[in-house]
Amino acid sequence: MRYYRHSFDVAGYVFHADIYCAECGEGLPETDREGNAKSVIFVDYLGEFTSDDIEYNCATCGLATTEW
Ligand SMILES: [Zn+2]
Repeated sequence: MRYYRHSFDVAGYVFHADIYCAECGEGLPETDREGNAKSVIFVDYLGEFTSDDIEYNCATCGLATTEW
């Protein structure tokens, strides 16, 4: 059963042009090898990473954003 999450909770991360779920993204460094900062996807903005046409998945574990 899923626990309740606040809209400002971290849903995932954007890192080196890939997206990662919160669990996988947590362990990533703060900047990638090109110096770009890891950025947070808050629960409120998860809609931008979910679509009826395209499936977005965590680059590490493959979990679809709709399951985050
Ligand atoms: Zn993951």
